[in-house]
Amino acid sequence: MKGQDNIIELEHLFRYYGNFCALKDVSIKIKRGAFGLLGPNGAGKTTTISILAGLLKPHYGTIKMFGGLDYYKDGIEIRQKIGFLPERNFILLNLTARKFLMLIGRLYGISKSELKNDVDEILKFVGLNEWKDKPAAKFSGGMRQRLGLAGALINRDAELYFFDEPTSNMDPIGRSEILDKIKELVKLGKSFIYCSHILPEVERVCNNVAIMNEGQIVASGKINKLSQKLAKNLFKIKVSDQNLLFDKLSEEIELTITNDQEDYITFECDNPEFIFKNISRIVSENNIKLYHFETVQLTLEEIFKKLVVDEESSNEN
Ligand code: ATP
Repeated sequence: MKGQDNIIELEHLFRYYGNFCALKDVSIKIKRGAFGLLGPNGAGKTTTISILAGLLKPHYGTIKMFGGLDYYKDGIEIRQKIGFLPERNFILLNLTARKFLMLIGRLYGISKSELKNDVDEILKFVGLNEWKDKPAAKFSGGMRQRLGLAGALINRDAELYFFDEPTSNMDPIGRSEILDKIKELVKLGKSFIYCSHILPEVERVCNNVAIMNEGQIVASGKINKLSQKLAKNLFKIKVSDQNLLFDKLSEEIELTITNDQEDYITFECDNPEFIFKNISRIVSENNIKLYHFETVQLTLEEIFKKLVVDEESSNEN
């Protein structure tokens, strides 16, 4: 059935805080699986996922979830299918990890007998097995984050998890472990929306992303497709005589050197066809040896920079 693959469909979503418009006409379709929601501070990521998790009401817009459930009519059913790790993790410090999870589980309506097994298993999954009977007040920031993650996972019926900055406060080893756990969830058929500023992390767990800026979606799709689209004019080259090559190229076409890393040079040219058609002629006419030539694959960090940082500085000028 059409739309069944989409776990989220947003159309013309608006959200105000007073007079300030935090979401401006956000429309997007998100397929099941791992999805990264990126953007600089204040872009509107938390507002978006707080709406989807039912914690905040939108002012306008249509939301369909899980292939057809209506956000306004089917709220209870939708919330039963959701797990949420908020950015500001809510933890009761005087409770032990086990008791805290029992409480969260009971709030989801899960029976005590079911929870008894699940709580231990989930605490083991997030690496807190040895701390399960200690009060959260004794936990480090990273351990509290793990407990928050356990709280999101306690709803075993969840099909979709929202993780808002899930690795904040964690050391590199902890981050890596949590990312592996999140990847395991996808293998189990779960979907998640992963909000983060740490782009290499997003790249590690998500194939599809949306980039938000100032309350709008500025790009979305598969990371490699976004890269191809944005990098089609970028080339990386290694030759025996760089200066000569760029002198000769510049006689025929305008180009900009964007990166100069020892032997390799990256350059941008508005007419990529010219480069493809003429590069072999120019090197052979000038006795230059061509060791390496490719169109550049952008990392998620570079895509983000092109769409958000470079765009903002060109608007300022
Ligand atoms: P961050 O990465 O810093 O968490 P974000 O992309 O999650 O940012 P939001 O928290 O959704 O962004 O905020 C979007 C905009 O709405 C920001 O300009 C923020 O200042 C504003 N905003 C968020 N919550 C409120 C609130 N309760 N009252 C007023 N303005 C708010």
